Amino acid sequence: MADKAKFQAIKGVRDILPPESALWNSGEQTAREVFGTFGFAEIRLPIFEQTELFARSVGLDTDIVSKEMYTFEDHGHRDIEFARKFALNTERYLKPGYPFGMERFLQAVDAFVDAVEGAFSGDKSLESRANKEALLEIKQATSQMWPLVTPDGAVTNEDAFRSFAIRIVFRLQSFHFENLLTLRPEATASVVRAYIEHGMQVQPGNVKLYYMGPMFRRERPQKGRYRQFYQIGAEVLGTSDAPGIDAEVIEMLMTLFERLKLKGTILNINSIGDKNCRPAYVEKLRAEFEKVREQLGADSQRRIETNPLRVLDSKLEHEQAIIEKLPRIGENLCDDCRAHYAEVKRQLDLRGIRYQENWRLVRGLDYYMRTTFEITAPGLGSQNAVCGGGRYDGLVELLGGPAATKGIGFAIGTDRLILSLQEAGEGAAAGGPAGKAGGPDVYLAWFGAAAQTAAIGLAKRLRDAGFVVELPAVEMKFGKSLGLADRLRARHAVIVGDDELAAGIVTVKRLSDGAQQKLAEPGLMLYLRA
Ligand code: ATP
Ligand code: MG
Repeated sequence: MADKAKFQAIKGVRDILPPESALWNSGEQTAREVFGTFGFAEIRLPIFEQTELFARSVGLDTDIVSKEMYTFEDHGHRDIEFARKFALNTERYLKPGYPFGMERFLQAVDAFVDAVEGAFSGDKSLESRANKEALLEIKQATSQMWPLVTPDGAVTNEDAFRSFAIRIVFRLQSFHFENLLTLRPEATASVVRAYIEHGMQVQPGNVKLYYMGPMFRRERPQKGRYRQFYQIGAEVLGTSDAPGIDAEVIEMLMTLFERLKLKGTILNINSIGDKNCRPAYVEKLRAEFEKVREQLGADSQRRIETNPLRVLDSKLEHEQAIIEKLPRIGENLCDDCRAHYAEVKRQLDLRGIRYQENWRLVRGLDYYMRTTFEITAPGLGSQNAVCGGGRYDGLVELLGGPAATKGIGFAIGTDRLILSLQEAGEGAAAGGPAGKAGGPDVYLAWFGAAAQTAAIGLAKRLRDAGFVVELPAVEMKFGKSLGLADRLRARHAVIVGDDELAAGIVTVKRLSDGAQQKLAEPGLMLYLRA
């Protein structure tokens, strides 16, 4: 068997099978309902974006961008690549003593220019500065070369022609579309991109959006950590950064977890300051780290330069004592950030939401500022963060949107959420719509062609009434058919044979205890419902 299975899912990527998928659906459905009551609407986003979007927003120094992204070149421009290679090929006509071929070179270059301009007009993102410069120089050169071509196709000043051609060849050789695409490692960047692209800032009040779907990061696979994983996230974008927004977003999250009966969650919060106070704190940290550089691990040593805040996140045993003695961000916030943080906590108190302050909570993405939070859940081992989030007031501006726009959001790791629910083995994992996964309500056994016709009609009416019906596609012997009903764990077998047809009734057998009775259709409906 095993050696026949030629294909396997890629490492770190998995199938979500029934009945587990029912739990996923009900979890996502609950999120839709809860988020809806807070006035959030769904945004469906593309799975891939320009690499630059993530590089800029998530941050070059983050693990995500520096080593975990799935990036590929868009091969959608083969026509241009073809025209470029073709033009370079015609370079051979430029050899001395071959003046009648030179025109072909120019024609090929013009074809290349046409292809590039066509691509530019179809997709502005291709118009990088380097590409525009190259195109301009090529066009300037060709405009001076064409007058050198006589009506009969010869070239009058071969040397001049050739020196222009050399510049073109050089440009052609280095020309390439830097059209790198990346499978999204997270979705906040896409939400912000969409917000700007569609001018959503003109909408009244805050823009409140949620999304759900797969994300991709090339991490080391382990329990609760996959290369394709899923997130349910939400974002609030608008001109206000009122702490009440932060608290309400967190309240929405906790409401969802409560609705899902996810027990034992812990909310950690922190403020990591803003562009006024954080730089000074980061420098303070850096100076402290320099003093103990030799005692730190390789990762932390590297982060002293690239991102000292991230050292606080370290899980290394021997670094803990060092980190505990460091200056804390809470004591280094500017007045505005301090007041904002205090009010976030008061707003959480107003909502009866319990939290732990964790001064070491920094997030793995660069765009966060001020409020950050993370929620842990039981049963997940060391990958116990089920949700991360925070405020990102500068991100919209960084990506080219209106400067005054503020933002806050979170992302729940759906895989971990489901895992935690399963580990708990109760709550939504056991009951709820997922419970339907048990087996069909009705196994509709039919015997004979006339019975099949009747069964098809009955199956339709039962399904319209909301029952889960299994209708065998081919006729089976009585024993075999009822045996299958058992194995499918059907609740009832409804039997339609010649006798039943003649009497205008069906036989219903309750499979749990074998209790059997004969009913007409209205009675059957009532019986099944009861
Ligand atoms: P972690 O510290 O666990 O790596 P993170 O800081 O990288 O998390 P975020 O980028 O904030 O996480 O994403 C939010 C949530 O998405 C996390 O709290 C986690 O539940 C989930 N998540 C992140 N990466 C993965 C992954 N590779 N597999 C499964 N879930 C993930
Ligand atoms: Mg991570």
